Amino acid sequence: MEGKRLVYMDHAATTYVKPEVLDAMMPYFTENFGNPSSIYTFSRKSKSAIEEAREKVAKAIGAKADEIYFTGGGSEADNWALKGIAFANKDKGNHIITTKIEHHAILHACEFLEKNGFEITYLNVDENGMISLDELERAITDKTILISIMFANNEIGTIEPIKEIGEIAKKRNIYFHTDAVQAVGNVKIDVKDMNIDLLSLAAHKFYGPKGVGALYIKKGVKIENLIHGGGQERKRRAGTENIPGIVGLGKAIELATSDIDSHNERIIKMRDRLLEGIMEKIPHTKLNGHPEKRLPGNINVSFRFIEGESLLLLLDQSGICASTGSACSSGSLDPSHVLLAIGLPHEIAHGSLRLSLGDATKEEDIDYVLEVLPKIVQRLRDMSPLYETFKHKGETINV
Ligand SMILES: *Cc1c(COP(=O)(O)O)cnc(C)c1O
Repeated sequence: MEGKRLVYMDHAATTYVKPEVLDAMMPYFTENFGNPSSIYTFSRKSKSAIEEAREKVAKAIGAKADEIYFTGGGSEADNWALKGIAFANKDKGNHIITTKIEHHAILHACEFLEKNGFEITYLNVDENGMISLDELERAITDKTILISIMFANNEIGTIEPIKEIGEIAKKRNIYFHTDAVQAVGNVKIDVKDMNIDLLSLAAHKFYGPKGVGALYIKKGVKIENLIHGGGQERKRRAGTENIPGIVGLGKAIELATSDIDSHNERIIKMRDRLLEGIMEKIPHTKLNGHPEKRLPGNINVSFRFIEGESLLLLLDQSGICASTGSACSSGSLDPSHVLLAIGLPHEIAHGSLRLSLGDATKEEDIDYVLEVLPKIVQRLRDMSPLYETFKHKGETINV
């Protein structure tokens, strides 16, 4: 829109494609369009482009190239990990452990498995969104075949103790999958050091294209296919490869993991300034998620006495793109399962806002949000019967 300010604070939902990434992809839409499965020399460029991207993804997470399988995004990688391990190992057991705060790609795949004879334990999290390693150990039975715990939460940004979980899984001889869709590019990942057997990632969360992702499957892991068909991806994931997407994923992960420290330093500085400003200017506000162990770009706050949905609409009118939680559940009136899992009462969970910063974020954006947001919250509170009651009763507040 001409002349209208746009501040994008929803990098956790998706990111733009970096120009270098788009440049790398372009030739594979046009001149190098060959099908890598074809025999003629022309198609070799497509084939080698895939293998180059595979090397890049492997390097970014400390895996070997032949442990990387390209998928149609993060949801597919998550579904493959869960269903593939469940069905390939059901002779060993039917029990899977996950958490209450996973992305719906995991939770809904678990529901499907429950309908098919599997038993799922959903671990609790504490008020910061952290799982308990003791509870995890206690949940393990001799029927447990898989532990699937996200690396970092998409709503509240909490980073789970992945290396410790990996140790437990290894000691008990149980496969460990982690949904690292939010972590890649923000946290350093080494699948060998962290004892991760399967890991999901998606390009559009780190400045690559949408609709392409990968599943790392450690060599030797017993897993069924999810997509049946042709012999692509070493017979494990059928379908003509999305070459431009795969090339974009390779380039994006290379860029995103090459300068994590300096990237994070810049983002954290802005994030902290924004958060401090919000806490200072807006009373009765609570930060959700772990105060330190959290994604660099994530802010999730609850404002008492208001509705997150109305807040988003007013922010949108001021050109600010934000979210109440996960993009996937917006449009529904149920409070976020993540906010309920950290123990927020419904009415407070409803008044929550996620601002996620990223490469596009500038200092002026922080200034702008700090100017606009407090006014909007106040405007909504002035219309809120809850706030009216609170002012008259003057009850004590602990949020
Ligand atoms: C975005 C996201 C997904 C889903 O990835 P898609 O590429 O959109 O299918 C899964 N898990 C987490 C944690 C995410 O943030």
